[in-house]
Amino acid sequence: MTNIYLFFGPPGSGKGTLTTLCIQEFNWYQLSTGNLCREHIQRGSQIGKKIESLIKQGELVPDEIIADMVKQTLLSMKEMPKNIIFDGYPRTAKQAELLYALLQESLKEFNLSLIKLNIDQELLLERILTRVFCSNKACQRVYSLMAGSAMHPKKDMICDDCNSPLKKRSDDTPETLNHRLDAYYKHEQEIVDFYIDKGVDIGMLNGAQTVQGLFEEFKNLTQQKAYVC
Ligand code: AMP
Repeated sequence: MTNIYLFFGPPGSGKGTLTTLCIQEFNWYQLSTGNLCREHIQRGSQIGKKIESLIKQGELVPDEIIADMVKQTLLSMKEMPKNIIFDGYPRTAKQAELLYALLQESLKEFNLSLIKLNIDQELLLERILTRVFCSNKACQRVYSLMAGSAMHPKKDMICDDCNSPLKKRSDDTPETLNHRLDAYYKHEQEIVDFYIDKGVDIGMLNGAQTVQGLFEEFKNLTQQKAYVC
């Protein structure tokens, strides 16, 4: 049985942070479509060239391109991990459909949960605009420059773990963020409706709390059999 967790929420709601904790504490597998897109751009692949400007503008990459990346990633696995986090996928009802079909096709048995992170838009803006990450490809730890944040780096713009310089994501700008938020809210309800229709467990988390608080809430949620919708 494979447990599939779909981490779903607007940019800055804590999907990536929660994923990092699940990897550190439980050794779960992360499949982030944002990371797959950035890898294509860094490699300068055909796909990377096609999607670079969309990502810079905060627009969604076409469903078929994203679904194909996800399919290739799953099919290339020698052994299916017991717990998989989809971080930032699906983002449209079409993607939800394509993923559902892919899971049915490629996994014998799976347990699917949608984990929805809720947060006010004002806090999102502050979080995203103060977000930086480690430039070392092997590290990529995420930090916040928000005053008083527990995720603040110890040294100015230097990674606590590997001493590499920290940098901003090129799409974490006020202009791009508006497009990214629009893209999220445009599809939010249709995705939730898709999973309600399929009878999938839906868990709600408060994305506005501290990292540890969020992780505790997630652990409590996963210990319950059926989530509160
Ligand atoms: P993220 O790292 O998840 O915030 O994604 C960064 C950017 O990659 C998004 O703003 C989109 O342009 C693109 N992207 C990532 N995942 C998807 C997806 N599932 N569907 C469409 N575009 C995506």
